[in-house]
Amino acid sequence: MPAPENSPRSVDCPPSPLGCAASAGEPCLSHGGTRERHNFHRARTAAWEAARIAAVPAAQLVADAAARKGVRHAKHAAEMLAANGFTAEAERIRRAVSDRNGLMSAKQAVALLVDEDGDHG
Ligand SMILES: [Zn+2]
Repeated sequence: MPAPENSPRSVDCPPSPLGCAASAGEPCLSHGGTRERHNFHRARTAAWEAARIAAVPAAQLVADAAARKGVRHAKHAAEMLAANGFTAEAERIRRAVSDRNGLMSAKQAVALLVDEDGDHG
């Protein structure tokens, strides 16, 4: 598995018209490729987020459930994780839901699973 990266720069930018087709590690370009952008094409950011989710099986499971089965609440995401054997991840989500007084979406659960991956603190 590749080292964690904190920027869309770690993935390829999709080809035109969504992006500029910059290779991983290269900056996004604008103005017909003559100028470096200071940010990233939205499609590249989306591709990077998808890659981060794909690297964390529990996050991928919740993201799929949110997209396909309409799982909206983190509490339901935790139940689903537990049912699929992701006990530690389910417990992490339950704690987060509790910390937020129940106000946590499945989408936020995905972000939490992705962000805390590799963080053993
Ligand atoms: Zn780009």
